[in-house]
Amino acid sequence: MAKFKFPKGEEREIEDIKGKTIQDVVGKRKDYLVAIVDGVPKDLTFKLTGSENEVEICDFSHPVGKDTYWHTTSHILAQAVKELFPDVKVTIGPAIENGFYYDFDTQGYAFTPKDLEKIEAKMIEITKLDLPIKRRELSRKEAIEFFKKLGETYKIEILEEIESDTVSIYEQGGFADLCRGPHLPSTGYVKAIKILSSSGSYWRGDEHNARLQRIYGISFPKKSMLDEYLKMIEEAKKRDHRKLGKELDLFSIQEEVGPGLILWHPRGATIRMVIEDFWKNEHLKRGYQLVYTPHVGRANLWQTSGHLDFYRENMFPVMKVDEQEYFIKPMNCPFHILIYKSKIRSYREFPIKYAEMGTVYRYEKSGVLHGLLRVRGFTQDDAHIFVREDQVEDEIKKVLEFTLFMLKSFGFEDFSIYISTMPEKHVGSIQMWELATRSLKEAADDMGLSYEIDEGAGAFYGPKIDVVIKDALKREWQCSTIQFDFNLPERFDMTYRDKDGTEKRPYMIHRALLGSFERFLGTLIEHYGGNLPVWLSPTQVKVLPISEENSEFARKVYKTLISKNIRAELDDRNEKIGYKIREAEKMKVPYMLIIGRKEESMNGVSLRVHGMGDKGFIKLEEFLEYINEKIEKKEVGY
Ligand SMILES: [Zn+2]
Ligand SMILES: [Zn+2]
Repeated sequence: MAKFKFPKGEEREIEDIKGKTIQDVVGKRKDYLVAIVDGVPKDLTFKLTGSENEVEICDFSHPVGKDTYWHTTSHILAQAVKELFPDVKVTIGPAIENGFYYDFDTQGYAFTPKDLEKIEAKMIEITKLDLPIKRRELSRKEAIEFFKKLGETYKIEILEEIESDTVSIYEQGGFADLCRGPHLPSTGYVKAIKILSSSGSYWRGDEHNARLQRIYGISFPKKSMLDEYLKMIEEAKKRDHRKLGKELDLFSIQEEVGPGLILWHPRGATIRMVIEDFWKNEHLKRGYQLVYTPHVGRANLWQTSGHLDFYRENMFPVMKVDEQEYFIKPMNCPFHILIYKSKIRSYREFPIKYAEMGTVYRYEKSGVLHGLLRVRGFTQDDAHIFVREDQVEDEIKKVLEFTLFMLKSFGFEDFSIYISTMPEKHVGSIQMWELATRSLKEAADDMGLSYEIDEGAGAFYGPKIDVVIKDALKREWQCSTIQFDFNLPERFDMTYRDKDGTEKRPYMIHRALLGSFERFLGTLIEHYGGNLPVWLSPTQVKVLPISEENSEFARKVYKTLISKNIRAELDDRNEKIGYKIREAEKMKVPYMLIIGRKEESMNGVSLRVHGMGDKGFIKLEEFLEYINEKIEKKEVGY
């Protein structure tokens, strides 16, 4: 007897399973893709021994189901390529985050778009044949013989490095691949396929090895799911913050400066300034104190903090100044601790909350750098909170509330929350871990937030809560972290004098609400596709006189706007009005105020809203009221 778990959550104890395949037990259904048998993924054709405890059936919504689906499609791809190009040698073809790829040795030939079309058509043909996919186990020696006959030298190379004596191959039609599995029962399970691209790659990712051709693709059980996915990637391309950052003249990354280092152009800097001002004010309202700290610090500081022992590979190399070793800071924490330690602290002073827009530098491999999202220099919206034990719960509630307030202010409404708890190896007493973890859970409960617990996934120095936002395309972005630290107060011997005169250690909490300004701006640009809410738009209004004779009045309008703290620009160039409008639309300026003879005579403007067209005549005072409300309420639409 074993417990069977089904995709929709149903659970059933089933008897007499010995000697039957999983498919014999649960029936053949196109949405049953693969099973997890006592924690190990298995084919549905796997024969049960009768000693199993739990069998979980996975459909496409399950990560293992999806992985198996895409991995099987990569075998279908390899089969199609082998049928069309018999001389090509196969290498490996894993499932990836979105879809799959397969690497082929084509002896230098690069697949053309026409080839890819043919390959896709062949793959569809193979799925229509609904070929059974069969697993066969054989000895390593037999497998080497098998692939020798096929001339698949890469498979032989892999086999020669495998330690175990038995290996498995999966066969479908005339195609066989060395593979651990599991796979779908037959090729007909795959319904909608799309080849996405091809590119050059190297055997084992090493440029000294043979050059290969990689084909990327994706597949789904329904055509509508594929269509939706393709629409999503089209939309994501349009929203790419690197593309929009250039078009809207927000920032640049230049070789001459170095990879992963951001130059903020005036328009990007304006957005950042608005966010920073808002951020500062909200912190001051909540009892935070702002601090500024240097970009470099002596080696012994990073020794005390433990960074040199545990974080060195993420740090920029050492600098020598006056025979002393310095490092550029990868984190702000040690500096804030030294401000805390600059005098004797009393229990009366708590909570102590130091906030800083702290610019840090971390070494990231050049291959992983990505626009504003993965960089080498960035500014964290950092804070360190020091509290007494009796203040922990209250302060955690406040900081979680603050987090959600900030994210909602930017128009994010969809969050996933994860709490990571004590790992096996840790510092700090059990009692501290319990208090900290309980306070994180209670804060989330109090706010009516659901969360997932990542059991044992916390850092060794304390539990944490992560807030992940979902953007307009339902993609997830990690922003906020609230992280306890039981380690640094020890390492720096932080103390305060308690009511009873004894010396105690404070609790320390690291937190970033937005993460970093760079990453957060990247997220904002992609979420809004560049159409930022009015309060964040670098240029909120463009004043556009139709001809020279209206430019004096236009200038008066422009001056009124900027005197009321509206970020306005005047475009009084001697250009056609249509051209000026097109340019303003391209720069995604929310409001265009068009001024001709009629508008001037009626002492007002014609309002044009970005992406929505002409809204007709409006008095300037009325427009000011309208835009100010949008700004004050941080409204998302124009
Ligand atoms: Zn495989
Ligand atoms: Zn910190």
